[in-house]
Amino acid sequence: MKIAIVGGGWAGLAAAVGATEAGHRVTLIEMAPQLGGRARSLAQPPQLDNGQHILIGAYRQSLALMRRVGVDADRALLRLPLRLRYPGHEGLRLRPGPPILAFARAVLSYRAWPLAARLRFLGQSLVWALAGFRCAADLSVAQLCRRVPEPVRRELIAPLCVAALNTPAEQASAQVFLRVLRDALFDGPGSSDLLLPRRPLSELLAEPAGQWLQAHGAEILLGRRVQQLRAEGAGWSVDGQPFDAVVLACPAPEAARLTTPLAAHWARQAAALRFEPIITVYLHSPGSTLPAPMLALQDGPAAPAQFAFDLGQLGHAPGRFAFVISGAAAWIERGLEAAGAATLDQALAVLRWHSPPSVLRVLAEKRATFACTPGLQRPPAAIAPGLWAAGDYIDGPYPATLEGAVRAGQAAAAAIKQA
Ligand SMILES: Cc1cc2nc3c(=O)[nH]c(=O)nc-3n(C[C@H](O)[C@H](O)[C@H](O)COP(=O)(O)OP(=O)(O)OC[C@H]3O[C@@H](n4cnc5c(N)ncnc54)[C@H](O)[C@@H]3O)c2cc1C
Repeated sequence: MKIAIVGGGWAGLAAAVGATEAGHRVTLIEMAPQLGGRARSLAQPPQLDNGQHILIGAYRQSLALMRRVGVDADRALLRLPLRLRYPGHEGLRLRPGPPILAFARAVLSYRAWPLAARLRFLGQSLVWALAGFRCAADLSVAQLCRRVPEPVRRELIAPLCVAALNTPAEQASAQVFLRVLRDALFDGPGSSDLLLPRRPLSELLAEPAGQWLQAHGAEILLGRRVQQLRAEGAGWSVDGQPFDAVVLACPAPEAARLTTPLAAHWARQAAALRFEPIITVYLHSPGSTLPAPMLALQDGPAAPAQFAFDLGQLGHAPGRFAFVISGAAAWIERGLEAAGAATLDQALAVLRWHSPPSVLRVLAEKRATFACTPGLQRPPAAIAPGLWAAGDYIDGPYPATLEGAVRAGQAAAAAIKQA
């Protein structure tokens, strides 16, 4: 079949590789001058990514896709057992081995929490496990964790929630949060490991996947924004060009625009999603290093960032640091200059620097991820016969992540195969 894939982010790339492998003639149409979508490197120097990304060991489909297109994922990503290290003290740290045992051991031996708090949290975790890591759809993470002792909520639940769901615990879906915990702790050895990119983001998937697709006969059209989709015979017309099937792998608002006249209910669902921003503040400080490649930070009203990355330790430019502000709506309102200045103050207050740090760049992605709220109705992958959607926002168990995007792309390719 002749397949059009609209959008060349990780979902579109996964769909394109899957459909090409299934023997279809694929045309991948991307609006930007480069592939990768939100998970790309910036085209202009200095060499920076469009926001710091991390993966976890449970992202099995993303890792398999990277390998499929020729990426040596073991070299491209630094694998570390989950460790929430803070500037002044060691946080919770999982040792290598079966994640569930490592988790229990880590909690029991973490003396910064009173013994009663550790035991209560383990007991609560057991309750979640016995319930199959499921809960009512309308529950927030804050409600789910109301019996979890305060230091555990502050030092573990809040940073994990905002890192995984990009939504503060008070507004985040407990169901999706539990699913992330389940996959990290029960999906086999290494699932909870943190995987930190050692290569620019575009080298993790976008560039190698683009090369792989071209080598396997797929057509890639860059710098072309699809304007119109129409039903044509048994198939679809994309800006006047006929295809047997189409995968919309563009973000939800754009997919809603393209489908409004064709599938009104689906388009309304996609258009109803709300989004959470992420700000990444890149700092520069020659000769400085952090105590670890990744540090957790205590955020607060004047301290925006929750995580800091030492890019030099990850094989990128030495003396360069990425500070991540997730759930950043309040800082978007205050303005990027204020966010950069507050992050710089935070960095100066809690870390030691060899030379005075300065702000290199502040990047904001206003629609970084959909707001992963309780009871959220996400649009399904099937829009109409021969028309599918793929993207991190498609109905499924995951929050907006690379893995969610890849799985949605692969699911669309599999659906075409069965059609
Ligand atoms: C700053 C930041 C940090 C993040 N951190 C993490 C992280 O640590 N871990 C993690 O797992 N996830 C993270 N994410 C989320 C992750 O980047 C996304 O979930 C993922 O990249 C989404 O991929 P996608 O293919 O669904 O969408 P996108 O990447 O948005 O791809 C959609 C593509 O469609 C194109 N397009 C749009 N309209 C059209 C059109 N009409 N015609 C043609 N092309 C079109 C766009 O240009 C884009 O390339 C982060 C996101 C951001 C922004």
